[in-house]
Amino acid sequence: MTYNIAVLPGDGIGPEIVEQAVRVLRALPIDLTIQTAPVGGAAYDAHGHPLPDATLALAKQSHAVLFGAVGDWKYDKLERSLRPEQAILGLRKAMGLFANFRPAMLFPELAKASSLKPELVAGLDILILRELTGDIYFGQPRGVREVTEGPFKGEQQGYDTMHYAESEVRRIAHVAFQAAQQRSGRLCSVDKANVLETSQFWRDIVIEVAKEYPDVALSHMYVDNAAMQLIRAPKEFDVIVTGNLFGDILSDTAAMLTGSIGMLPSASLNASSQGLYEPIHGSAPDIAGTGTANPLAAILSAAMLLRYSLNHGELANQVESAVQQVLEQGLRTADLCEEGTAAVSTSEMGDAVLEALK
Ligand code: NAD
Repeated sequence: MTYNIAVLPGDGIGPEIVEQAVRVLRALPIDLTIQTAPVGGAAYDAHGHPLPDATLALAKQSHAVLFGAVGDWKYDKLERSLRPEQAILGLRKAMGLFANFRPAMLFPELAKASSLKPELVAGLDILILRELTGDIYFGQPRGVREVTEGPFKGEQQGYDTMHYAESEVRRIAHVAFQAAQQRSGRLCSVDKANVLETSQFWRDIVIEVAKEYPDVALSHMYVDNAAMQLIRAPKEFDVIVTGNLFGDILSDTAAMLTGSIGMLPSASLNASSQGLYEPIHGSAPDIAGTGTANPLAAILSAAMLLRYSLNHGELANQVESAVQQVLEQGLRTADLCEEGTAAVSTSEMGDAVLEALK
């Protein structure tokens, strides 16, 4: 079987880190057709739009998209619909990418990079599943209106609408239970059911779906408590599933537990396991072109691509252990270096991962 991979490098360090991830993919014993297209600011400069039709078509026809990063301060004055970041929202929408996988893992060698005590985070390996296409981020109606009654009568009021349809909760719950089955069999659903109707509904549906997964131990936690527990004892979690709003905040919190933004991959999948894979960091315009960016988040994103969209978990494991090996050897890009130690460049880190793969 030949798999089609759309590579969208984007802006800033995007092309530099994606290049290393593509080298890793090409070195594997798997038949890939890799095609590249512009996205974000690079696409706006070349074609007047951050997500040109041809780029979207390539992404939709692929088995998986490997995405770098988009954005640069020079585009901040463009109207919102033409800003580079709109490309990601456009891809999510057009491809129906509702399940966002955000692993937060900390290789033991990097435990000192965290702002938490090493013993709290060394070996951390949790997975946050964030619902990505619903919730208050997309709920209608929304806007600004005049209040017609009550204590704020006559004032302008900003408002949004939180809602989740049953099928939206069911499909992310199934993905979460299946992810938990592949890991330690523990799933924590995070909501605010003590206050929000939408959350109580979310919880009721998750409990119903749980009946189909008797091998998974389901727990529930309010989002405020989950935020505290993530900082107090993050290793007590395994898989967390939550809605779009809470997931946005908790996944970034979990990412920061690891202290190394250049290390964390992510995946966004649709119902047919087609996915978009990208590092969680941005385009880092401050270091673009210097050859110092850490390519490991992009390489680990490629590993997720192999596991979740191409069903090649064994190759994903090989890539992840190659990354582990180079860290054990002491190789560090500048972002991971302790003071006084020498850093390797983006391409040298890529070389080392390729060498470790052999
Ligand atoms: P950023 O993640 O790009 O950078 C934050 C800091 O982390 C910077 O100091 C940067 O040098 C460093 N950093 C990030 N990735 C690194 C890597 N791989 N190796 C070494 N250091 C790394 O966030 P920002 O500076 O807030 O945003 C810059 C641009 O990226 C903005 O235009 C923003 O909108 C965009 N952005 C895009 C995405 C995306 O494409 N998914 C995500 C976040 C931000």
